[in-house]
Amino acid sequence: MAEQKSTNPLFDLTGRVALVTGGNGGIGLGIALGLAGAGADIVIAARDPVKTAEAMLQVEDLGRRAVSLPVDVSQEAAVKRMVSDAVASMGRIDILVNNAGIVARGEPQDLPVVDWDLVMDVNLRSAFMASKEVHPHMVRQGGGKIINIGSMYSIFGSNNSTPYGASKGGVVQMTKSLAVFWAKDNIQVNVLLPGWIVTPMTKGIPDAAPERYRTISDRIPAGRWGEPADMAGAAVFLASRASDYATGSSLVVDGGYSVN
Ligand code: NDP
Repeated sequence: MAEQKSTNPLFDLTGRVALVTGGNGGIGLGIALGLAGAGADIVIAARDPVKTAEAMLQVEDLGRRAVSLPVDVSQEAAVKRMVSDAVASMGRIDILVNNAGIVARGEPQDLPVVDWDLVMDVNLRSAFMASKEVHPHMVRQGGGKIINIGSMYSIFGSNNSTPYGASKGGVVQMTKSLAVFWAKDNIQVNVLLPGWIVTPMTKGIPDAAPERYRTISDRIPAGRWGEPADMAGAAVFLASRASDYATGSSLVVDGGYSVN
């Protein structure tokens, strides 16, 4: 049977523009393709031009416009330029997905402080900077959607990366504060908490830490790790009119890991 296109206007993103940091791979690309599938045009902001070019082709294959911006989100000037270039190219920004992220693994007593700074800059500070920059544009447009990306380590202590856990806890608290301040501007700010997803960030775990991999896998009631595409539905919800009364919330998409 031919696939039926959803006609529910609540989830329709036609005419909307989404800026996805780290949208050239992993979860960011899964989200970008989900939003494009619902009708949005996509701006992909990341560092690696080869990965970005491939990601743009995938967006265009869905019939949507794609623009790429080479950006290191740890740099304030670059984040400012990213937002102004996105508006210049697409005319608007309706949806910001603060997805770019890194991890520095190791025991806290051994981790160089410079690793703390870098993880915080990429995972948390960049999300604040980008949100600040899109705010005036969203206000001018009458509203907008900001989707931050947390983690299971927004909930649990990390046995593997203290800076990562701190940054992801911070993302949740930042989300709540922005949601409170900007509700009057009709900007909804929410955070998506993915479980364990197969991406370049995690693909080395089975070989590097087989026991940890087994412990994690055994705890996932769904019986499998997630794929980036598993994040698309939640992202479309948080980007669309369907979530207009949801703000400051954390949406867990983890195959049941966090409740087991
Ligand atoms: P990937 O390593 O696949 O993706 C990270 C993305 O961030 C890449 O697209 C990368 O692109 C981009 N990025 C990294 N540093 C920068 C930077 N300084 N400036 C701009 N872009 C940057 O990992 P995931 O897809 O797994 O991670 C995506 C998000 O999801 C992260 O925030 C991560 O913490 C979170 N997450 C991941 C989980 C998982 O199990 N995989 C679970 C929960 C949360 P480029 O290198 O081209 O810049």
